[in-house]
Formats: sequence, C-alpha cells, structure tokens
Amino acid sequence: MQMGKRLAAWLSVAAAVAVMLTPCAVTAESVDDKRDELADLRDEQQELEEAISNLTDSVEDQQLKVSKLNAQVKNLEDQLTAYEETIASIDREIAEKEERIFTLNQEIVVKERLMEAILQKLKKRVAAIAKTGNYSSFQLLMSTADYEDYLLKSNVLSRISDHDQQLIAQAEREKAIITQKRREVEQEREAAIAAKEEQEQLKGEVDEQFNKLEVLYQTAYQEKVNLEKKLGTYEKQQERLRQAEEAVLKEIEEMLNTEDGKTVGNYNGTMVWPVPSVNQISCTYGQKSDYFHWGTDIWGPGIVKDPIYAAADGVVVKAKWNDSWGWYTMIDHGVNSNGVRVMTLYAHMYQPAFVSVGQTVEAGKTPLGIVGNTGNSKGAHLHFEVYEDGRRVDAIAKGYIAKP
Ligand SMILES: [Zn+2]
Repeated sequence: MQMGKRLAAWLSVAAAVAVMLTPCAVTAESVDDKRDELADLRDEQQELEEAISNLTDSVEDQQLKVSKLNAQVKNLEDQLTAYEETIASIDREIAEKEERIFTLNQEIVVKERLMEAILQKLKKRVAAIAKTGNYSSFQLLMSTADYEDYLLKSNVLSRISDHDQQLIAQAEREKAIITQKRREVEQEREAAIAAKEEQEQLKGEVDEQFNKLEVLYQTAYQEKVNLEKKLGTYEKQQERLRQAEEAVLKEIEEMLNTEDGKTVGNYNGTMVWPVPSVNQISCTYGQKSDYFHWGTDIWGPGIVKDPIYAAADGVVVKAKWNDSWGWYTMIDHGVNSNGVRVMTLYAHMYQPAFVSVGQTVEAGKTPLGIVGNTGNSKGAHLHFEVYEDGRRVDAIAKGYIAKP
C-alpha cells in the first residue's frame, strides 16, 4: 500500500514534469546558435588544416622516399645493363676463340696430312730401296772387298731419305707450334668462360637486389598515391567547410540585418505580454537537460490561433520562414537609454506574419500573427525572444515582460 502510494506520487510528478518539459523541447536557432555553429566549423577547419599540413608533410616525406628508391632502382638497372654488356662482350670473345681454335685445328689437320703424305711417299721409297738395298748389301756382304762401296751406298740411301725426314721434322715442329697455340687459345677460352660465369653470378645477385628494391619502390609509390588521395579528400572537405562557414556567416549577417529597423527611434522601456489570451510560461529561458533554451515559451489551454501582439513599439525587420522558428517575425524597438538596441522575436506562428518588413507596429495593438506549431516545435505556443544588440537575453529575468 505504502509502495503503491509512493509509486502513484512518483508517477504524477513524472507526468507533471513531462507536461512541463514537452513544450520546452524546442531548439529554435538564432544568431547565438549560428555563432556556436560558426565556432564549431572554425574548430573543425583548424583541425582539418593541421591534418592537411601533417598529411602534406607525409606526402613530401613519401615523395622523397620514392625518389630515393627510384634512384636506387635506376642505379641497379644501370649495373644490370653494364653486366649484360660485359657478358655479351665475353660471349663475343668466346666465339672468337672458338673460331680461332677451329682454324688452328684445321691447320693441325693440314700439317698431319702433309706429314702422312711424306711418310707414305718415304715408306714406298724405303721399301723400294730396301728391296734393291737388301739385295745389294747381301751381294756386298758376300764380297767383302766392296764393303766401302756398301757404306757409300748406305750413305746414299740415307741421303735419299734425308730430305723427306727434314720435311717431316719441319711439319712436326710446325704442328707442335700450332698445337701449343691451340692450347693457349683454349686456355683463354676457358678463362673467358670462367669470367662470364663470374659476371653472371654477380648479375644474378644484382638482379635479386633489383627485384627486392622494385617491390619496395612499388609499395612506397602506392603509399604515396594513397596519401595524395587522402589529401585530396581532406582538401575537398576543407572546401566544404569553407562553404559551410560562408553560408553560416551569411545567415548570421541576415539575422543581424535590421533592414528598415535602422530608422527606429528609442526604445521606451516598456513591454507588454504578447499573447493576452493566456498567462502561463511552459518553458523558461536557460539551460535545459540537453540544450539551451534561448527564449520564453508562452502558453495556455486553447492557445492555438490566438493573436500575438507586438510587445513594444517598433518596426518589423523580419517576417519570414525558418526551419527552426517556422513562421516568425522580428521587431526592432530602437535603442534604450544605455545605447543598446532592443529587438523581439515571435516564433512558430500558425501562418505567415500579418505584418511586413518596414511596417511600424504599436505595443499591444498591432497583431503580428497567430499562435501555431510551425518549424521545430512540439505543440502550439509562442516562442518569444528578446535581443540586446543581437544577443538573446532572459526576457523575464531582465524584466522586459512579466506574467500577467
Ligand atoms: Zn521556445
């Protein structure tokens, strides 16, 4: 029972709070909101500017890295080209040596053939001489008296072969010289092949280095491209913020623009309650749970379509639509004794204002429009604002208006 009572009490309080808060849930925009918006935009711009500056540095660093890697890649490319040229030159040298070996082999064959021919000729001659010689020597041996003659004949025999033997010996010498030459050329060829292998191994090492570096270069280059892309996005965002800033500045200028209001004389220091048919304040000026309420909400049962009157004498400076305020009007009341310009604003009107810019209005007498629920509003009420030099103040606390 006790619990039930408490709960009921709590619920009734909650309901009352809800009723009180509901008309308050209005975020009417005005110059101060726009100024806040502008400050936020400028903070954002500054952050972006720093980000762009950092990113620009990063892009420059990356560009430097890419350039260095590119120079290294080019250097290795030059090295590879040099190796290829050396290897090609060695290949030509090897081909030349092989050609020379081929020629020397042919020369050796010629010498061998020559020797073979002489030898064959000699063999035939020796055979012929041997036949007669054998016979003669036998004959001579038989008659020892002719021994000297045998020697003579033998000498002749020997002399007959001398010429051929000399030819063979010469050919043999020449062949030996050519063979020696061939050996030398073969050694040179082997040295060239070894040199080529060495160059190819070195080239292989550089090739490997080149491939690794090429990958590093490609990665660094891609990173640079990505950074530049990001920078491009940031710069576009910067341009958007710049445009947004321009738009807000324009809005502020428009809001502060009093147009014909400049001809208004002095504020006489007196305001009247703008909706005489009702007498309640559903939401006061000031900080609410999650936002700041920049005006005083005037309300009462059946307020919808009730006439709104100018709070003080003045001139209409605005009578238009705004997504936050809906149909609204703004009146310039002139400058007070302290030299401060006083203005009032009437928002969420049911339909466009009855008055137009430049029109003179009289306190409590000129109907400005009727109460509605247009713009950013939840439930019909008059959102009433008082401005001192373009800045909103608490109309109640400052004594401009009081509950009737
Ligand atoms: Zn309000």
